[in-house]
Amino acid sequence: MSHQEDAVLSTMQDVPLTVTRILRHGMTVHGTSQVTTWTGEGEPQRRSFREIGERTAQLAHALREDLGVTDDERVATFMWNNAEHVEAYYAVPCMGAILHTLNLRLPADQLVWIVNHAADRVIIVNGSLLGLLAPLLPQLTSVEHLVVSGPGDRSLLAGSHAQVHEYEELLAGKPTAYDWPELDERTAAAMCYTSGTTGDPKGVVYSHRSIYLHSMQVNMAQSMGLTDADTTLVVVPQFHVNAWGLPHATLMTGVNMLMPDRFLQPAPLAEMIEKERPTHAAAVPTIWQGLLAELTAKPRNVSSLGQVTIGGSACPPSLMEAFDKLGMRVCHAWGMTETSPLGTVARPPAHAAGTEEEFGYRLTQGRFPASVEARLVGPGGEHLPWDGTSAGELEVRGPWIAGAYYGGAGGDVLRPEDKFSDDGWLKTGDVGVITADGFLTLTDRAKDVIKSGGEWISSVELENALMSHPDVAEAAVVAVPDDKWGERPLATVVLREGATADYASLRDFLAGRIAKWQLPERWTVIPAVPKTSVGKFDKKVLRRQYADGELDVTKL
Ligand code: AMP
Repeated sequence: MSHQEDAVLSTMQDVPLTVTRILRHGMTVHGTSQVTTWTGEGEPQRRSFREIGERTAQLAHALREDLGVTDDERVATFMWNNAEHVEAYYAVPCMGAILHTLNLRLPADQLVWIVNHAADRVIIVNGSLLGLLAPLLPQLTSVEHLVVSGPGDRSLLAGSHAQVHEYEELLAGKPTAYDWPELDERTAAAMCYTSGTTGDPKGVVYSHRSIYLHSMQVNMAQSMGLTDADTTLVVVPQFHVNAWGLPHATLMTGVNMLMPDRFLQPAPLAEMIEKERPTHAAAVPTIWQGLLAELTAKPRNVSSLGQVTIGGSACPPSLMEAFDKLGMRVCHAWGMTETSPLGTVARPPAHAAGTEEEFGYRLTQGRFPASVEARLVGPGGEHLPWDGTSAGELEVRGPWIAGAYYGGAGGDVLRPEDKFSDDGWLKTGDVGVITADGFLTLTDRAKDVIKSGGEWISSVELENALMSHPDVAEAAVVAVPDDKWGERPLATVVLREGATADYASLRDFLAGRIAKWQLPERWTVIPAVPKTSVGKFDKKVLRRQYADGELDVTKL
């Protein structure tokens, strides 16, 4: 038996895994790769990784010397996806402070709560967003400095208690190198609050180490697998889980970034793709549905775009098929703010390539990478087998998975028991099945499941089947109370322009695909599915509208 003193020690160097290492690597080894920011009219703004690195140093000097940012202070951003936001992504963590990306689509009261909870003292804001931020300022008592970048009406800030600075003026003349501190890899680097559908929003704090390891995973061939020959169109907002890790992962491998700034509507996105020819893009399904409609109405040359990563909500099969036909191969992925976000990626296993099984694999949420451990927990707390049929709540654990939430200044971290198990696993709130070879299929959110006569009906399955009908643009299915069955599904449907389908024909269409007892008897057509701040179906709004009698429901 070996005693402690005889133990063989590793002879490896103990080098901290920090965002600073990613920055140094990106701006030298991949110094000529580019961040291109769309400007709407005229030439896009183009900046090399070397320039980004130099400006990052200048920003860090400005934050420290002019604004007095120290230690683990939170520096917030209220920005679109653009080169300046990438600069903030590196300057703030590399100087040892914490980057706090604010979700500009959140309701005003939540934004105010979040800024106050994080005690942000500095906000870097795009000029085009001042109209949104200015009205909140009187309630943002911790904020002392606003740094404004890009075009926009500065007069909106007149009378604000915060000092207003121009981003470019702050950077001008500052040294283009910075003596970055040697940080412990467990230092907090960035924070992001979850959208908070129930209770107060919750702050997830990423470490340098978690970002570093997550970036390596994003770059693996079985994840996004991009190289310096690629350009990625980063549609997923930088305020939503670090734009799925892309601004970090790309500096590791020299992948060029194409940033849409505020031009997120389908027409400018299509134009950007045609002109800048990205090879990859990442966004939630809502964006892709919009782009598909645009491309159908006005075809464009989008042939460069070989791969699109879709996540954030389930990718409807009809969307995957339509994109496949256009030559854009969809790769479906699942994740959460708490999981950095990469949790699973749906790359089919080698044995399925070219077979009929392949499409089925691609439609799953995907396979867990080595660093994400997963288990399924049944209603009684029992652990369920990975047999592809036993459905339970997904729990995960790993080096880029949150183990707690930020507790506010001076407060302990929060570990609510509905979010973390006793042994420290994250309870995802997602319900699904896992196959023996580790492919996850989600059937619902725990809070969205429809329990009819003691059996679960998958709202996702019903939605996917409905959205494969040619007349249906979008469909969301929610549980509504039912005297006989406890709960039954309500189908809310958005029809395409000129659609002729009626409820009976939609139900008949489903009947060929879904078990009879699961078919909805309650139907309503709505103008649009309500969406959350990050573009997901907001089912709680639909349930409330139903409860308040606001929906015109037909019972078949
Ligand atoms: P957020 O933290 O706002 O990114 O939300 C995370 C949640 O989005 C997950 O817990 C899932 O419910 C949902 N989600 C993310 N990706 C997918 C996906 N590919 N399929 C289905 N749901 C997803």
